[in-house]
Amino acid sequence: MNSGEKLFARLLNRAPTAAIDLPDPLGSPPFGLHLHLDANGGVLQMAGPLRHLLAQQSPHDQPLPLHRYVQPHSTLAIEGRPVEWLGQSLDLDFPGHGDQTLHLRGWVQPLGTGWLMQLMDIADLLLERQQSRSRDTCQALAAQISEQLRACSLTRLPVIVGEQLQAIAQRWHIPCLALTLLDEQAQGWQIHRQFRAHDAPTLWHDGQQLGTTLDSLNGTGPQHVSTHHGLDPHSRVQAMFGNVEGFAVPYSDDRGVVAWLLCGFYPVDASESNLSDRDWMGLCSALAGPLLARLRELQHHQQLERMESLQTLLGTGWWEIVGDDVHLAPSLVIALQLDAPRPSLDQWLEQIHPADREELRSRLHALQQQSEALTLCVRLYSPDAWKNPLWYRLQGLAIGSGENRRLVGFMLDISDIKNQQQIADAAHARLDNLIASSPAVIYVQRYAEGALQPAFFSASLQPLLGWNLADCTATALVERVHPEDRELYFERTRHLLREGSVRARYRLRDSRGDYHWLLDEAKLLRDDLGLPVEAVGLWLDVTEATLVAEQVRQSEERYRILVEDSPAMICRYCPDLTLTFGNRPLAMYLECTPDELPGVNLGSWMSDEQRDAFVQRLNLLTPEQPVSTAEISLQLPGREHAWWVWSDRGVFDERGQLIEVQAVGRDNTEVRRSQQQLTQSAKMATLGEMATGLAHEINQPLNVMRMAIVNVLKRLSNGDVQIDYLQDKLNRIDAQVQRAARVVDHMRVFGRRSEIEQQPFNPADAIEGTLSLLNEGMRGKGVDLRISETGFTVQVRGYVDQLEQVLINLMVNARDALLSKREADSTFRPWISVYAERDKHSVRLWVEDNGGGIDPRLLERIFEPFFTTKPVGVGTGLGLSVSYGIVENMGGRLSVSNSVDGARFCIELPIVLDDEMPDDSVARELAPAGLRSGPEIDNANAEKS
Ligand code: ADP
Repeated sequence: MNSGEKLFARLLNRAPTAAIDLPDPLGSPPFGLHLHLDANGGVLQMAGPLRHLLAQQSPHDQPLPLHRYVQPHSTLAIEGRPVEWLGQSLDLDFPGHGDQTLHLRGWVQPLGTGWLMQLMDIADLLLERQQSRSRDTCQALAAQISEQLRACSLTRLPVIVGEQLQAIAQRWHIPCLALTLLDEQAQGWQIHRQFRAHDAPTLWHDGQQLGTTLDSLNGTGPQHVSTHHGLDPHSRVQAMFGNVEGFAVPYSDDRGVVAWLLCGFYPVDASESNLSDRDWMGLCSALAGPLLARLRELQHHQQLERMESLQTLLGTGWWEIVGDDVHLAPSLVIALQLDAPRPSLDQWLEQIHPADREELRSRLHALQQQSEALTLCVRLYSPDAWKNPLWYRLQGLAIGSGENRRLVGFMLDISDIKNQQQIADAAHARLDNLIASSPAVIYVQRYAEGALQPAFFSASLQPLLGWNLADCTATALVERVHPEDRELYFERTRHLLREGSVRARYRLRDSRGDYHWLLDEAKLLRDDLGLPVEAVGLWLDVTEATLVAEQVRQSEERYRILVEDSPAMICRYCPDLTLTFGNRPLAMYLECTPDELPGVNLGSWMSDEQRDAFVQRLNLLTPEQPVSTAEISLQLPGREHAWWVWSDRGVFDERGQLIEVQAVGRDNTEVRRSQQQLTQSAKMATLGEMATGLAHEINQPLNVMRMAIVNVLKRLSNGDVQIDYLQDKLNRIDAQVQRAARVVDHMRVFGRRSEIEQQPFNPADAIEGTLSLLNEGMRGKGVDLRISETGFTVQVRGYVDQLEQVLINLMVNARDALLSKREADSTFRPWISVYAERDKHSVRLWVEDNGGGIDPRLLERIFEPFFTTKPVGVGTGLGLSVSYGIVENMGGRLSVSNSVDGARFCIELPIVLDDEMPDDSVARELAPAGLRSGPEIDNANAEKS
């Protein structure tokens, strides 16, 4: 039996040749088509149900050749005559009604003179074959897709997916094709990749989120989406397919439906009836299965990469002990500078610092043997590890059990933390040391229900106060506060809680019972809600400082009392003479209260001259020589004049600038007055002493006048009187009258009291005044006065009459010495020499005689008051003493020495600086008086002769 017959037999469910009952001649077969052919293949007769389906019905008149009945392409099979077809299976397509084609298979056998052709419908058979072919194609494509997806590199994966979609779409003419995957993170569906034929509308795009739309589809098999559905759950799905025919194929794995292959504009039944649901699902799974696996692989790969870079960044890595080896993360292999990625346990341990190695070894052993979890900080071993050690935290544990037991762990680089911790520890230790050795205690008081409980004290508490934390409960602390300071202490706590910080000073008792002054500074720390948590504070032992301050206060008080009660005037003033402070005695002199003194200018009681001199003196103060004393004179309210001995002390800043003057003064007016009195009496005494000399001084002009008058009278008695002669004599008399008047005038001036204030003057004036009083007297006694001219003029400060008095004293003393010497020796020729010399700062007036000098043993005593060698009633012993005081008061010095011939006195006076001199005195200076001898002497002598 050939294959055709077998098939036929199968279709008939019986043997092909068995019992084909042909009626005469054809009978009426139950199925198929029987054709009675003549020898040439003309159709004589038709029978069987299929004959009604043929388009071409057999005519009754004459037989048509068989090829007229079949479609053109089938004519090839029936070329020639039926006898040639014998034994062949003939597949013939007959045109049916409409567009239908009848696929029939048959064979011929002789029947009488003609042939019987029996034909069967084989459309089913063909369909099945086609389907099977399609399935094969489908499976081949699926296999290819899987293969491609599995084998391609991860980077090419998206392209490959696209290509495979395109292949499917093109193979089955699907306009829009998309693969959607379940996006687990977004909990929805996403178009992973789509393909669209160039003439198809856009339905989807890559990466499009579809939400949960697809959840409503039944995932057990492919789903048709059609406009007929119109049911609610599918309306959104329909919309997704553009409301046209669509087809969705699910793919499930252990998690359920995880992918859909979506075919848009694709009425699958109409387009492709050859693929079964299984085929579609196979296709979908060929695409989605490997793709999902590769995507998972990609995800895994990325995760691994992230882990690796994270480990490198963190300086960490995993390790696992496998047998005798250790598997390490690549980052660790690099960090530990290992040669092999899987070192032996010993090689690994060699990288650990010897100080930590044995401990790690033992802990690893415990992990291996007893599964004891391991946590350890170790240093890496390197030659310069002592400088900058690399610290690792090593942790490990056993997971799983039995065969699956694994020893895994990680190493984490904690060098930064460790080093910082060590630095912090060192700093902490230093701080602790510092606090412990300082006179300060740091404390913490915890806030609890409105009260502050001591919670911490730095170690310095013990050395400072001898207490421990245990001694410092809140109540114990209060008890240790000095009873007088307790109220203050409570206020301190209240203030701290109220204001957030406080600064107080109170006494605390130490363990020995002594009290310490503590400066307490505290701050309240609050939490995020602003509620107090604790107070942090500092006790500073300020006992010494407090005691010193107290001593200073007491001494200041004593000083204040001293200043207040002192009979001396005490004040402080600025360089511009404005008072900043003055005590009661000063205020009394100035007729005000001490409060009114600050702001008052000291210069307002001085004359311009006095004030200038005062300021001049202050300007000479320096940090090296800050003190200056002088007698100043003031015009005080309600008083004529006051003399104060005044001591100034300058206070300087660090740049040497005078910032303040402190002064102490004493009223010297009375002393001054008596001194003046004394000077005056001495002056009067001098005048008295000079009486003889003065008489001579007056007598001289009187004598001249008398002689002139005698001479005139003599001429008158002779009658020999000429007007010229008379005029001459009268002029002479007039000159003598004037001379006498000058002497008397000067005596009056000399006898007067001195001026109140010192004035600048030329010392030559004093010499001139002296000579006007003494000149005649000296000559009368036969004393030679030698007065030297000087070529300079200077100014000194003082009283011209007083200097005159000094000069008179010196010359009178010299005269006395000279006269007593001549008494002994009549040939002795006495002289007094007066001369002057100057240097930059001072002028010296010398008075020298040839009286034999002073006994050297008495030289030191002659300036003492009441010292005299003269007989009682003659000498007063005051002359030199008063003279000494006068010169000293002028800022000068009176001294004595013995020369070859006699005594030599020197009056040394400071020269007043030019810029200190008033303008009129300078003008006076322009007409120098010089030192000169009396001009009238020669005239007098001339009259005598
Ligand atoms: P008095 O002239 O009243 O004695 P002084 O004080 O003027 O008082 O003089 C004191 C003494 O100094 C005199 O007694 C005398 O002994 C001595 N003396 C002063 N000047 C001279 C002098 N030029 N030569 C010798 N002795 C002198």
